[in-house]
Amino acid sequence: MIFIQKIRSKLQAIVLSLLFTAIGFNAISQNNSYEIYALKFASLKFKFPVTMFAMGSTSKDSVQPCYMVYLLKGNNGKNILVDAGFTETPPIYNMAAFNYVRPDEMLKKINVDPASITDIILTHPHWDHIGGIDLFPNAMLWMQEQDFNYFVGTAWQKGGDSSGFSGKDVIKIIQKNIARQLTLVKGDSVEIMPGIRVFTGSKHTYESQYVLVGAGNDKVIIASDNSWLYYNLVNLLPIPLTFDTNAYLQNLKRMRAMVKNVDLILPGHDPLVFSKFSKVTEDVVKIK
Ligand SMILES: [Zn+2]
Repeated sequence: MIFIQKIRSKLQAIVLSLLFTAIGFNAISQNNSYEIYALKFASLKFKFPVTMFAMGSTSKDSVQPCYMVYLLKGNNGKNILVDAGFTETPPIYNMAAFNYVRPDEMLKKINVDPASITDIILTHPHWDHIGGIDLFPNAMLWMQEQDFNYFVGTAWQKGGDSSGFSGKDVIKIIQKNIARQLTLVKGDSVEIMPGIRVFTGSKHTYESQYVLVGAGNDKVIIASDNSWLYYNLVNLLPIPLTFDTNAYLQNLKRMRAMVKNVDLILPGHDPLVFSKFSKVTEDVVKIK
């Protein structure tokens, strides 16, 4: 009898210790944190006046726009890309105009296997942000539902706006949807993964989104084309390419209110990102 009691209390101890381990593990797993990297995979070979990128600007400066993807490397096993870059240019652009390295090759430079990308958050479906989705075979794609519907449907109807869209990319995203590798996000301020929340409203495309990573004092926004340059954010001047200029302006202000240090609101095409943060290797910087 005593023997059985001993076994029973030992079993209870094991169960209790397993329970506490599980609770402890759960507490740790809820504390999701992400390292953030910016990777420049292309750059235009020319400079353009800043006035082209900011409505109402009187700046005399010029800028050489770059093309980038952001990597969020989680302590939860997730390797998330914000946007996928491009693999080819639409007919009106000339590939020779870019200093280009394929986005998956850029990831290999920092020892990230393209097959290990678990998710891609698409901020909007312009060719330079969506065209690379087929380079990452195992990724779940995340896109705003209204942006998707417009991209695959309305844009190509009479009165629709398909500028910046490639028909090839429409076919690619539909294939991903059929393969169950697309999750459509419904609207503003949605936490799509632990510690990652998306916001809409800028109307760069029909329903473009930006990405807030982290919480409290540890927040970073990947604005993508919801601000082309730091200049747009600092001067609160919208870009000329939006369905709604006032909504775009309101979201520049909203991002500024969410993250006080403007350096940590990361724009879509600004080469300054690569001088503000510490270099990991050529054309890659670590934001945090
Ligand atoms: Zn862009």
